[in-house]
Amino acid sequence: MKITIDGPVASGKTAVGRALARRIAARFLDTGTMYRAATWAALQRNLDFSNADSLAKLVQSLSIEVILEDGEHVLKVNGADITDFLRDPDVEANVSQLSQVRQVRHELVNQQRTIADNGNIVVAGRDIGTVVIPDANLKIYLDASIDIRARRRHDEMRRKGNIANLGKLIEDIKTRDTMDSKRDESPLVAASDALIINTDRLRIDQIVTRIMQSMEQK
Ligand code: C5P
Repeated sequence: MKITIDGPVASGKTAVGRALARRIAARFLDTGTMYRAATWAALQRNLDFSNADSLAKLVQSLSIEVILEDGEHVLKVNGADITDFLRDPDVEANVSQLSQVRQVRHELVNQQRTIADNGNIVVAGRDIGTVVIPDANLKIYLDASIDIRARRRHDEMRRKGNIANLGKLIEDIKTRDTMDSKRDESPLVAASDALIINTDRLRIDQIVTRIMQSMEQK
């Protein structure tokens, strides 16, 4: 059983994917962490994010390990645990540019397919139902309005003790959405056979219940 969860909502997808995987005793892979890990590595090396070739070379030379632990992910780059840096503002600001590069995507998509090949799995991302696992058993696309997403992100940051400017968060989200959905290479778009769920007024457990219902109807 393979279930894909795509859409622009970042932490929502992760929370839903993790909870769903737990309910159906499947593994969970959040592919955004892999693009973030590669971005972190490029920042460490001071690479120019407009130079697609150097980003591609870097990703081909890196060893990115994703260790899945009951829904939590540990990301290792060349053996070093970099999990704590995945949500750094610098990573956030550059990840969409790195993920536009075709060879970067090819490399990471291959790794994602290898991980997903092994038994039951829920995979979250931007292109999972359309490109990575087009023959998945069930495809979900989670949507939400920009204001709600910014508020959720604001609350998430506040819980971690960080104060963010809501207006700036809205602008950042819009920029990232535009880059992700307008790129040439596997843009963010719902698969034609995906179940689209607007999550504005739904809690995580309600979304999971809705997905479980649609699994039963299949
Ligand atoms: O889902 P998350 O916010 O962690 O993803 C970070 C970024 O990684 C996205 O904005 C997108 O640019 C990229 N990404 C992607 N394809 C995926 C997952 C993430 O391009 N499957």
